[in-house]
Amino acid sequence: MKEVGHFIGGKAVAGTSGRFGPIFDPATGEETGRVAFASAAEVDAAVRAAKSAQPAWAEQTVLRRMRVMFKLKEVIERNADRLARAITAEHGKTLEDARGEVQRGLEVVEFACGLPQLMKGEFSQQVGTGIDILSVRQPLGVCVGITPFNFPVMIPLWMAPLAVACGNGFVLKPSEKDPTAPAILMELFLEAGVPEGLVNLVNGDKETVNALLAHPDVAAISFVGATATAEYIYRTGTAHGKRVQALGGAKNHMVVMPDADLDMAVDALMGAAYGSAGERCMAVSVAVPVGDKVADALIERLAPRVRQLKIGPGTEPGVEMGPLVTREHLEKVRSYVDLGVMEGAELVVDGRDFKMQGYEKGFYLGGCLFDRVTTDMRIYKDEIFGPVLSTVRAKSFDEAVAMINAHEYGNGVAIFTRDGDAARAFANAVNIGMVGINVPIPVPVAFHGFGGWKRSLFGDHHTHGMEGVRFYTKLKAITARWPTGIRAGAEFSMPQLR
Ligand code: NAD
Repeated sequence: MKEVGHFIGGKAVAGTSGRFGPIFDPATGEETGRVAFASAAEVDAAVRAAKSAQPAWAEQTVLRRMRVMFKLKEVIERNADRLARAITAEHGKTLEDARGEVQRGLEVVEFACGLPQLMKGEFSQQVGTGIDILSVRQPLGVCVGITPFNFPVMIPLWMAPLAVACGNGFVLKPSEKDPTAPAILMELFLEAGVPEGLVNLVNGDKETVNALLAHPDVAAISFVGATATAEYIYRTGTAHGKRVQALGGAKNHMVVMPDADLDMAVDALMGAAYGSAGERCMAVSVAVPVGDKVADALIERLAPRVRQLKIGPGTEPGVEMGPLVTREHLEKVRSYVDLGVMEGAELVVDGRDFKMQGYEKGFYLGGCLFDRVTTDMRIYKDEIFGPVLSTVRAKSFDEAVAMINAHEYGNGVAIFTRDGDAARAFANAVNIGMVGINVPIPVPVAFHGFGGWKRSLFGDHHTHGMEGVRFYTKLKAITARWPTGIRAGAEFSMPQLR
């Protein structure tokens, strides 16, 4: 049985709190190890390590910090397969999907390699007689990242590389469900030349998180996870005077217009609803065909594809969908399917009895497809986070847009159509942070910001892209005059620059 501890001051260390959580292999259902939960004292040691390493790191030239990012890119590339295997062993997603996750995280490291350009300030000469002004970006100090189970490598990489490149220290608190891959990342940061103590990791639960939220030396917190947790982190973190970005849950709709390429829409829905067993914050969980004709055709084509999904352990070639992350989560998702039936939705494909031969204890659920879901049902309102696609039939484009805008979440949305006018009107009218036009999962590339609207994000900054740089730096404006012989004398009124 493996035991995962913390990473403090440049070293892997065992937990000392005596509190642990179990680690499972979702493919077999077997308990494979345990993860230590950090006490307030361990959190304090991690924050202190980051705090003491940070000033010297911030003093390094921008070029030196950039070169460490180039090295980090190379080191992660070399370890991509090792990271992907660690993800699959504890999350359950297919190896191919895990490799994709590592690649998407790596893209943020590549973005951070452009540090000299990203950190460039602004300069205005002669704003007054003999006076120049420059605005510069400076690091915040110690930043914290608290991350969810569903992307144990990509989401820490949304945060740590940019925070560190900008000159900050960093403490990561990854999900307790799949802690091995984030622990590997710590070694890789060190190997890339990040100074000992600058980047740390504490594993844990709410108690650990609370210690981070209240720590006086933590300047900023990036969080990604469920909405209830995001709201708690935002409220508590800001009450302690910290800068917080807290990304929450989602319910992503995909509108299928009558003129859409239906085969393309069906392929898109299969991947976006059932890929990674629906455990993606950008998964499509609601299909919105416009008009009964499109709805009937869509269900007719989707149903056999959902029944034929290739389900199995993520390490097996050809598998399209792996197990869910834990038994507890499997039971939660299954109970939502029960609820949908009780609420009166039509369960077209029922995956509840799916059994994986040879892996009877694994956390598998077959793909589920609902038709005739209505907006008052809980299976429509709540985020289920599993391989369950709900179909809500809309009578018109306007009804589809109104439905999307009325939903409490605002992470991602997509429209499938051949009509440029409709696509443009849709992108303009929806109050959602990320919009796809014939693109089902519109996750922005690393040099654009990622973030939802409404209750999918608390705070003012999206993650990565220039938004990330802004989040991890504070702006300083320096107004300078040199004694060039101009003497204005003592000024008692507001200076008027001429
Ligand atoms: P979660 O909120 O349960 O956990 C996220 C992190 O918060 C973990 O590190 C966990 O240990 C910690 N945590 C959990 N409960 C806590 C509490 N009560 N107090 C303090 N800390 C707590 O989320 P999860 O189940 O790991 O991840 C799935 C959720 O994340 C889904 O809702 C999904 O939509 C969301 N998510 C959102 C995005 C996004 O970009 N918006 C991306 C990925 C996942």
